[in-house]
Amino acid sequence: MNHIKNIVVNILYLIQGMYVTILNFFRKKLTEQYPENRGKVFPYSRFRGTLVMFHNWKNQHRCTACGICQLNCPNGTIKIITKNELSEITGSCKRVLDKYIYDVGSCTFCSICTTNCPQNAITWETGFEHAIFNRSRLYKKLNKENSSLIKNGKI
Ligand code: SF4
Ligand code: SF4
Repeated sequence: MNHIKNIVVNILYLIQGMYVTILNFFRKKLTEQYPENRGKVFPYSRFRGTLVMFHNWKNQHRCTACGICQLNCPNGTIKIITKNELSEITGSCKRVLDKYIYDVGSCTFCSICTTNCPQNAITWETGFEHAIFNRSRLYKKLNKENSSLIKNGKI
């Protein structure tokens, strides 16, 4: 009799231990079947997938090449390359952005760069598919060709 009682008690303990597992068995599944559902996965807008530079319809950006993002990045992920450009208005030479190089392979997505940018020139997009076979392709130039600085304007 004692033997049967032990079996029943142990089964009850087992059900108690498996309670959450059993409950989740009947709940709606949240796991994404990626990459089978590619094209149907839409991360939240706050998701940090790809660092991008704002450009307006005239292909202009806000980056002044101040280098604050480069200085603050803990991994040396950003490289600002500048050039001198002759101003048509003042006739003087000034330093402008030539290439904004970003290495997604060393980025930790901490967002220190975006939060410290005084111009709000860079932000995040949700694209997350960065897997490639050639590491050199992880280096991206964020400013577009022939883009120039937006002065006091909003995009
Ligand atoms: S992105 Fe912002 S912080 Fe970085 S160089 Fe341009 S203006 Fe400066
Ligand atoms: S998110 Fe962090 S690691 Fe990535 S570029 Fe910005 S500051 Fe550097």
